[in-house]
Amino acid sequence: MENQKIWLSSPHMGGSEQQFVQEAFDANWVAPLGPNVNGLEQDLEKYLGNQSHVGALSSGTAAIHLGLILLGVQAGDEVLCQSMTFSASANPILYLGAIPVFIDSETETWNLCPVALEEAIIDRIANGKKPKAIIAVHLYGVPYQIEAIRAVADKYGIPILEDSAEALGSSYKGQKCGTFGDIGVLSFNGNKIITTSGGGAIVTPTKALKDKAVFFATQSRDDAPHYQHSAIGYNYRMSNICAGIGRGQMEVLDDHVDLRRKMNAFYVDLFKDINGVTVFTVPNEDYFANYWLSAIVVNPELSKGINRESLRLAFEAENIECRPLWKPMHLQPIFEQYPYYGNKVSETLFENGLCLPSGSNLTDEERERIAKVVRRVLG
Ligand SMILES: *Cc1c(COP(=O)(O)O)cnc(C)c1O
Repeated sequence: MENQKIWLSSPHMGGSEQQFVQEAFDANWVAPLGPNVNGLEQDLEKYLGNQSHVGALSSGTAAIHLGLILLGVQAGDEVLCQSMTFSASANPILYLGAIPVFIDSETETWNLCPVALEEAIIDRIANGKKPKAIIAVHLYGVPYQIEAIRAVADKYGIPILEDSAEALGSSYKGQKCGTFGDIGVLSFNGNKIITTSGGGAIVTPTKALKDKAVFFATQSRDDAPHYQHSAIGYNYRMSNICAGIGRGQMEVLDDHVDLRRKMNAFYVDLFKDINGVTVFTVPNEDYFANYWLSAIVVNPELSKGINRESLRLAFEAENIECRPLWKPMHLQPIFEQYPYYGNKVSETLFENGLCLPSGSNLTDEERERIAKVVRRVLG
């Protein structure tokens, strides 16, 4: 047991998940609809507040895809997208035959830089095409600069697709993440703050939009006794079995947020006297982060020559999983041909940043193993 693997972020069951799944079996609701799907949507609507409407889907990626469709994105359109993110934020742009335009991060929240965003919009308009949508991400559960990004979006009349896949439980000035965009997206993948084993949700400001998303997600069946279709359909609805896991997870969501925040506080304390390492935290108290993943930035000039990679390898040798920050999309082979606006903030973060084990289920012994590596390598 001594050297059992410490994961970056692993599923953490609350207790009643199996009961909800059992109920689905007992009622033979083993389908992509049923009481757990409705129940999970209601739980999420209540949790998010702000009169939001939620449609449970098979993944966060599906929610982004449908979100772009609801915002009217079509083949040939340009979509502005935060470069520093997981590829699932950007892939649906290509599913639609649209063109991603990548935007750098700012240094405070590591998310969409409002200055680079406006620069890009002005330049794309000058090139003859106004972008159709903005994909903004709350990286690692830290909210993006909500007001500055909204101001730019509104100035040019471009809607925001808020990728809140990593930020369920985070908020800004008391308002929950997922409710700031014209469309919001959540993920319940296995490594996220809560999981349905795999799943996601779309968050909309009106019931009509939610209904439209669910319509697309269930093969776009027109109202007719036979199968009749006047729009392209998708098979993107969440199963009632997965939703049962989600309902159990909703009961422990706030506890898990607390535990992840305690992991972040543990790292702040662990690194406070270590030169050259900064723990990623919110810029001020308007921001409330779920700290889905805790991340650090290493400055090798101040840390006795230890860099992100040597630290990662030291953890790996002790069977502790760490991971570099998201590699920016404009540096990815699949996306490097597309335009990019920025100032090397995301490149520098990628070079020096590392995500550390952040699960809500880590034990004192595991924290001690992590601390030992840090003290040995950097102390
Ligand atoms: C996980 C994630 C997604 C995709 O969600 P899935 O449910 O895995 O499809 C999208 N964007 C970001 C930023 C994510 O972290």
